[in-house]
Amino acid sequence: MSRRYEDLTGPEIANAVSASSILLLPVGAVEQHGPHLPLSVDHVIAHETATAIVEECGDELDIWQLPTISISKSNEHAWSAGTLSLSPDTLLAMLRDISRSISATDAERLVLLNGHGGNTSHLETALRELRYEFGLKTFLMHPFLPPAYGGASTENELGMGIHGGLDETSVFMHLRPDQVRLDKATRRVPEALAENTHVKFGGSVSFGWLSNDFNPDGYIGDPTGATAERGKQLFEHSVAVLSEAMREVKTFDFGR
Ligand SMILES: [Zn+2]
Repeated sequence: MSRRYEDLTGPEIANAVSASSILLLPVGAVEQHGPHLPLSVDHVIAHETATAIVEECGDELDIWQLPTISISKSNEHAWSAGTLSLSPDTLLAMLRDISRSISATDAERLVLLNGHGGNTSHLETALRELRYEFGLKTFLMHPFLPPAYGGASTENELGMGIHGGLDETSVFMHLRPDQVRLDKATRRVPEALAENTHVKFGGSVSFGWLSNDFNPDGYIGDPTGATAERGKQLFEHSVAVLSEAMREVKTFDFGR
C-alpha cells in the first residue's frame, strides 16, 4: 500500500488519516553546492530519507508522506545563479498554509524533515507558530543535523563540513552516483575560524554568513575523500535513528 498522502483520494482521507497518524513533510532546497554537486542535493536527501523512513516504519506507525517541498529559504546562496530561494516570511507563510490545510484532516502530528541547514532556525520558529495557531503537535528532524546546530562533522574538516563537504557529498554519491563530479572538488575549509573559542560554527556566539563569505566557490568542507560506501553507511544509520525517533513522536504527549 502506498503511504504517499497525495495517492489517496479525497474521500479516502477521512478513513486513512486519523488522530494517531503522523504526517511527514520533507523540506528540501534548490541551491548551489559548489562545482561537484547539483542544485538538488538537499531536496534529494530529504525526499529519499523520508521515503526510506516510511518504508522502514510507515505501516507500523501510520505515517503519511506529504509531497516534498523542493524550494525553501536559501538566501545564503542567493549570490550564485541557479539557487532558487524563498524569503523567510514566504517559507513560514507556506508552512502555515499547509498546516491550515492539514487541519481539515484528523491528523494531530506533523513532522518536518529538513534537508537544508539554512532552514533550521525558521523551522524551529514554525514549530511553535503551527502549534499555537492550529493546535498541531509539531516536530523537526534532520537527515543530518547541521554542524552549526550541534551536528557532527569530521576532524579533517575541523568540524566545518557545513555545505557540500565530505558527508553530504558521500551521501549524495550513494543516492545519485552519476551526478557527482568529484574531480571538480578541492578542500575548502576556513582554517582560521577553527582557532576561535566562541565565534565559530556551533560556538557560543552565532554569526550571520553567506556561503561565499568563506571562499568564492561557496562550499565549506573537504569533499575530496567522499565515497558512496561512506554515504550508504551514513544514510542507513540516519534512517535507523530517525525511525526510532518516529516511534517517540508517535506517543509524545508533553509528559502530562
Ligand atoms: Zn546541502
